[in-house]
Amino acid sequence: MFEVKPYPEFSWSLSRHKTLMECPRKYAYEYYISHNGWLKDSSILAKDAYRFKKMTNLEILFGSAVHDLILVVIEQYLKSGFIPPESELTQRLRSKLNSAFIDSKNRPELWRERPNHYHMLHEIYYNGVLPQDKVDEIQKRLNVCMGNFLTSKTFTDIREKKEMQFVEAERFRFMFVDGVKIFIVMDFLYRDIIEGKWIIVDWKTGKESFEDRYQLALYALYLQKVLKVKRIEEIVIRNEYLLTGTHKTYQLTETDLLKVEELLGMSVEQMHRFLEDIIQNQPLNFNQFHKTNTIKKCDRCNYKELCDMY
Ligand code: SF4
Repeated sequence: MFEVKPYPEFSWSLSRHKTLMECPRKYAYEYYISHNGWLKDSSILAKDAYRFKKMTNLEILFGSAVHDLILVVIEQYLKSGFIPPESELTQRLRSKLNSAFIDSKNRPELWRERPNHYHMLHEIYYNGVLPQDKVDEIQKRLNVCMGNFLTSKTFTDIREKKEMQFVEAERFRFMFVDGVKIFIVMDFLYRDIIEGKWIIVDWKTGKESFEDRYQLALYALYLQKVLKVKRIEEIVIRNEYLLTGTHKTYQLTETDLLKVEELLGMSVEQMHRFLEDIIQNQPLNFNQFHKTNTIKKCDRCNYKELCDMY
């Protein structure tokens, strides 16, 4: 039977770490206050925080729609050998964006009631409209992403290389490090048997940016700990840039792994400082999660309305 727990289970992820670094108050909303906010008899604050946690924005929505669709196309191809045409894939993405726009504009009450089933875009909730420059940018991405996916190095390998071992196409994975559950979001993983390499693929729907080596090192740590890959030289990380149709590969070192383990330890310790009870994962009083002083962060934050009230 579904058990209602007063506090969520403690786990670590890079995005959780980044949220705490960005703003402790946001971290509180996201990882504690919103807990149980989906239940009918939870407090108004928990319900509000949960609703805002489910809010999205145009770039995030587009990125996650592309990732979900790619996963479906790969799974379908591996099962049946069928590849839908690019125009159909682009249309599926467009429909998803349109439906989120319609939800946000015309069904705010439904989102309020069931934030898990309806979309709300941050841009529309807080400003009433989608900024034209963002719409133009997403339109540009929409026109090229699925075509670039179909001709990408990774999808070409999937179609053409015979000596491949595909590990289940599961995006959310976890491992335990020193008894702490660590979540890792990995887009796609396969093994080139001839070259003796594990290839971790990251689909990028935005512009090329300075790569987050911690994220890459976490992937490698997962392969070593869970899949028992012995040598770091056997692991290749590939970023596929869907906007430009290019890719880059990275080779990590043992030092990268040591650094990420160090970050993990320090970050968990920092998170524990916000707990009243570590075993229960019971947080400190809400007021002890201070707000950021950087107004820019607040402008793009989902919880802005709550912060104006509390
Ligand atoms: S609105 Fe600002 S202070 Fe409030 S949670 Fe968001 S980032 Fe933090």
